[in-house]
Amino acid sequence: MVEKEVLRSKFVGSLLGTAVGDSLGAGRWLRSAGRELSPFYTDDTHMTIGVAESLVDKKGFDKDHMLETLVRNWEREPWRGYGPGPPRIFAAYRRGEDPYEVARNLYPGGSYGNGAAMRVAPIACFYYDDLDRLKEVVYEASSITHAHPLGKEGAFLQASAIALAVRTEPGHLDPFDFVEQLRALMEHDVYVRKLNIIRRFLSSRPTKSQVIRELGNSVEAFNSVPTAIYAFLAHDQFESALRYAVSLGGDSDTISAMTGAIAGAYHGREAIPDRWLAELENKDYIEHLAVRLWKIKVKCL
Ligand SMILES: [Mg+2]
Repeated sequence: MVEKEVLRSKFVGSLLGTAVGDSLGAGRWLRSAGRELSPFYTDDTHMTIGVAESLVDKKGFDKDHMLETLVRNWEREPWRGYGPGPPRIFAAYRRGEDPYEVARNLYPGGSYGNGAAMRVAPIACFYYDDLDRLKEVVYEASSITHAHPLGKEGAFLQASAIALAVRTEPGHLDPFDFVEQLRALMEHDVYVRKLNIIRRFLSSRPTKSQVIRELGNSVEAFNSVPTAIYAFLAHDQFESALRYAVSLGGDSDTISAMTGAIAGAYHGREAIPDRWLAELENKDYIEHLAVRLWKIKVKCL
């Protein structure tokens, strides 16, 4: 079992890692002079905050409450760079329509974008020690906006990577074993294939264009979650993993947010460069949420 203070550092590392990754990725187009991070985080962090707030308020998962929290936050700050889907679902909910039905019908079979994966860190931390329960909760939480099975499984893959990273003592990571454990959890062939590619890349040092071509760097969950996992596994430092994730381009705020969530969950808060934390918007509040989540968790252990 992970020691309690280490667990605290990992919870905080995963949530701050999400926000730092998001802001570093968004900094590609929103940076101001003398800074590396964008002055503002985007929807990835904003929704992660909503997920954490709901888990803290309800001391665990409550789907309707999580929806209400995400909608409330979106209404307050709709300018955070939300993708096209969630605002349509949230507005329909406010009009009194069934939001889950809207989510199911948004695209044929629902969305398989990476929007459920990008916000999953608080859930993954909270349920890190029970992968069966984690899967149930991630599937339910994803279906608020991402009803397609590949959207939900992508979020579960990201959540599983974070949960395994929380469970692994810093310095004791075996990347090949990590990939094997993730592969055993996947049901859909596309994720199994991508994890096989990661295993091959871990011993073949591919070029960036090979990584982009074979793992992807776009908004679909299966073209971004495996990329984030590879960025984490191919680097032994938080900072180098994030710089690599951003350098792949494409949906870089989300890919580096997801890399940051996993790397932060493994390395812990202390591994995040101070200068990035100093530039991060709302750092103290995000850290406060992670600590509250940890306190609720350790009481249950
Ligand atoms: Mg974003």
